Amino acid sequence: QVKEKGKAHYQFYNTGMTVHFPGLVMMESQLRRAIENRELILYYQPQVDLHTNETTSFEALLRWANPILGFVSPGEFIPLAEDTGLIISIGDWVIEEVCRQLRSWEDKGIHGLKIGVNLSPKQFTQPSLCERIAYLLKKYSLKPSSLEIEITEGAMQDTAETIKILDQMKEIGLSISVDDFGTGYSSLSYLKQFPLDTLKIDQSFVKEILFDKKDAAITNTIIHLANSLGLEVIAEGVETTEQAGFLKDANCSKAQGFLFSKPVPAEELFKHLIPV
Ligand code: C2E
Ligand code: MG
Ligand code: MG
Ligand code: MG
Repeated sequence: QVKEKGKAHYQFYNTGMTVHFPGLVMMESQLRRAIENRELILYYQPQVDLHTNETTSFEALLRWANPILGFVSPGEFIPLAEDTGLIISIGDWVIEEVCRQLRSWEDKGIHGLKIGVNLSPKQFTQPSLCERIAYLLKKYSLKPSSLEIEITEGAMQDTAETIKILDQMKEIGLSISVDDFGTGYSSLSYLKQFPLDTLKIDQSFVKEILFDKKDAAITNTIIHLANSLGLEVIAEGVETTEQAGFLKDANCSKAQGFLFSKPVPAEELFKHLIPV
């Protein structure tokens, strides 16, 4: 759709739409060179066991610092990367960078770390994806269980192809997590068809959990569903001790959010591994 704003006309960006907005053309050309210019970096956010307070794993989150555009959030550049196909090379960089980092931690004596890696829908359906991941695990001598793949419901169409990819991932030994669970309008029947390990409760439900009865009901139901199906459950966007308390009482095993830590650079990760 075209929206009028003052004198200038902006064509808003949308999936499948030709890009006319000058800022996006600029962003695309900058994004094309982001990998070789070493402008991408991964931050890691702890995932905490609500019962022991121990950090059990981390999620890798992409950051882009560009000399012209400044700091661009993944919410802005990931959709652009998806639409331009750049997500394939960027996503590949992310997986290799996580593997390289895991190897470097192993070499420093930090063993048994599990890192969650976000996959875009386009990346997920790349025919060579599983082979590539298997190759990287071997190249960096890593246990497959050190990677947890995060995919949104929307990316997992209820098709034989999805089942095939997920089965291949399980065969390699990867863990599979449904990101932003409850926001993807998909049928629950996939929960019995797909070989899943974890449901991540979307932060939009967690935000008002103490004040909004519907959010509380939905969150309780997701936790119950995960526990009954034998799946791990992680609440996202936990910012207060009260939210953490609510979730713990509701039998949610893990949480992630600013209460515990913002995403941090790799060098700072070890701070979260020392038991307090
Ligand atoms: P996501 O995978 O659902 O990641 C969670 C987002 O919530 C992250 O935003 C994280 O920084 C933010 N967050 C964590 N704790 C809190 C909290 O307590 N409060 C609030 N308000 N937010 C919190 P971020 O890093 O901006 O990433 C946004 C999205 O971009 C991610 O959502 C994911 O979908 C995508 N993304 C990030 N890195 C990658 C990547 O390497 N590949 C792909 N394909 N997508 C990525
Ligand atoms: Mg995620
Ligand atoms: Mg999420
Ligand atoms: Mg998200």
